[in-house]
Amino acid sequence: ILVWLLEFHIAGFLALGAWLASLRENKLDGKVATVIGGASGIGEATARHFINHGACAVVIADIQDEKQNVAASICSDRCTYIHYDVTDKEQAKSLVESTVSMYGHLDVMFSNAGIFSSGTQTVLDFNFSVFNKLFAVNTRRMAACVKHAARAMKEGGVRGSIYSTASVSATHSLGFGTNYVMSKHAVLGLVRSASCMLAEDGIRVNRVLSGTVGTPFLCRSLGVEMEEMEKVVESRSKLKGVPTEKNVAETVAFLSSDKLEFLIGVDLAVDSLYVFPL
Ligand code: NAD
Repeated sequence: ILVWLLEFHIAGFLALGAWLASLRENKLDGKVATVIGGASGIGEATARHFINHGACAVVIADIQDEKQNVAASICSDRCTYIHYDVTDKEQAKSLVESTVSMYGHLDVMFSNAGIFSSGTQTVLDFNFSVFNKLFAVNTRRMAACVKHAARAMKEGGVRGSIYSTASVSATHSLGFGTNYVMSKHAVLGLVRSASCMLAEDGIRVNRVLSGTVGTPFLCRSLGVEMEEMEKVVESRSKLKGVPTEKNVAETVAFLSSDKLEFLIGVDLAVDSLYVFPL
């Protein structure tokens, strides 16, 4: 009986050790992340997820200064808000420099800010000023992020990760919103090119494709209030249910695992297969 009990305890301890090790596997221990467009929706959920799962620090960068308290509400000493407008080319460099000077290095850059254009914007009523605005926020922001984040990662010898939030419209037509579709498609070229060029430094560049995720952005795009949005999405999705910003946050965290060192240049979708058009 004594031998049996001893064996039982040893097996128990081994199982407990394996379980604890598995819990640590996808942890973001010690990582410093910058989340652009982190004051609400997907960005806010990602910042929160990173802090709650071991990240050393998160910088939230956004234009919604009225929501800057979100950083303190996530964690008063490990989460910071910085005003950052992605349409201003000069600010990307200083954002990255501020992150590195505050927290020592940068491991994860999540370039997530995005806007949608109102109106249908078909090819027949294509509007260049709307396109320029969408391109500046949805596309050019990623180029600026890759440039400055990758430089900081290389200088710091960090094998980091850079992501863009794209959309399911980044891979196929929605049947409307040509400007938006173009701005999201363009990022694929950047992600593929950058992942190839930065691979030898161990810097991974990937995209997360958001389907219809229940955020204020989606309500604005669908033209409905939050309460109505769920019903609309559920009724028009193949997979019943509405993906949440937390589902996207978990995907970004998953991609950030050091174990996924060969996952580069991919599109990972979080999607309920909404039947477009809106
Ligand atoms: P959201 O509106 O809740 O968040 C977007 C954030 O980007 C906001 O905090 C906003 O202030 C910020 N932002 C906008 N313009 C900016 C600028 N010029 N500089 C800095 N920050 C700026 O929306 P969300 O749903 O969390 O969207 C996040 C990303 O997901 C976007 O890129 C969007 O295109 C993409 N997306 C979302 C959905 C969806 O269904 N929610 C679908 C497809 C793609």
